[in-house]
Amino acid sequence: MSVLVYTENWDGKFKKLSFELVSYATAVAKMINTSVTAVSIGKVDNEELVKLGSYGADKIINVIGENLNILDNQAYTTVLAGISKSENASVIVISNNNTGKAIAPRLSVHLKAGVGSGVSRLPLSLNPFTVYKRAYSGNAYAHVVIKSDIRILTLAQNSFDLAESKVTPVIVDLNPTLDPVKTVVKDVQKQSGKKLLTDADIVVSGGRGMKSADNWAPLVELAGLLDGATACSRPVSDEGWRPHEEHTGQTGKIIAPNLYIAVGISGATQHLAGISSSKYIVAINSDKDAPIFEAAQYGIVGDAMKVLPKLVDAVKELKK
Ligand SMILES: Cc1cc2nc3c(=O)[nH]c(=O)nc-3n(C[C@H](O)[C@H](O)[C@H](O)COP(=O)(O)OP(=O)(O)OC[C@H]3O[C@@H](n4cnc5c(N)ncnc54)[C@H](O)[C@@H]3O)c2cc1C
Repeated sequence: MSVLVYTENWDGKFKKLSFELVSYATAVAKMINTSVTAVSIGKVDNEELVKLGSYGADKIINVIGENLNILDNQAYTTVLAGISKSENASVIVISNNNTGKAIAPRLSVHLKAGVGSGVSRLPLSLNPFTVYKRAYSGNAYAHVVIKSDIRILTLAQNSFDLAESKVTPVIVDLNPTLDPVKTVVKDVQKQSGKKLLTDADIVVSGGRGMKSADNWAPLVELAGLLDGATACSRPVSDEGWRPHEEHTGQTGKIIAPNLYIAVGISGATQHLAGISSSKYIVAINSDKDAPIFEAAQYGIVGDAMKVLPKLVDAVKELKK
């Protein structure tokens, strides 16, 4: 029996997300008194792979193959299903990001395994196997009992602290023979020069209270100074003030940064659905009764046009 964790790499490098997943898998393995096997798919060098040992991976399966350098959900699922069986995995940990959401249900069918999606804490009990997750846009929580022998858990990003536990991992290379792929990715165009919203630790987001597309400069400047990303509410992207890829919420991106600064955003439930897992929410709003203040830990009641330039100056001063 083991805990299997699928770690994602980007161009051969692991990001914090993967270390979080291994930290979580290690903690689950401790609960059930077993070991952790991490799976990495695509070209990653050994120096990078051993980093997974720093978070508790006892064994790392380095899966390589011509068709595996670009994410192919079907091929990746086949690989993970095969390894789950050979490693006798009883728990499989995957991220709750877009990749995880594509792989987990497929894997669930392959392995007849129940899925606890978007879990944010360690299992509440092992018998029955019960996990905790937020529900209804963070307005409630659910205890989900998984009755299958294999359990797949998709972990909400930023919900589990990194935990170092120095292990010298065994690295095993695997070059599986796969059926010919059904879909071929011909071209991948990556966004460059801009911090990805889903990767950012800090997000500065604007709503209709920003009044017009012309007023975004101080918000973008603040995000840049904080090494963060920019986001917006849905009406803002509907108006064309900001690109659609920045829209967060029920119908947009779901993010969980350490800090979410909501500027001129009222805090509608559909917006909160995308950001309520943020560690800290700071709201800037001219209406002291705006619902966003109920979700926020810190708030500034004031005109965004006056508050933002002051924040920009304050951060510049701090960085001197
Ligand atoms: C099915 C459905 C799905 C939806 N999905 C989403 C979604 O994914 N994401 C999303 O965001 N919305 C979504 N919505 C829309 C959502 O209901 C709200 O209408 C929207 O979030 C409001 O956006 P807002 O807060 O920017 O604007 P508003 O609600 O208009 O709020 C603007 C805020 O700015 C404040 N303000 C005004 N002037 C200033 C100033 N000078 N300085 C500071 N503050 C100021 C106001 O007090 C107000 O609180 C959805 C709606 C539906 C029906």
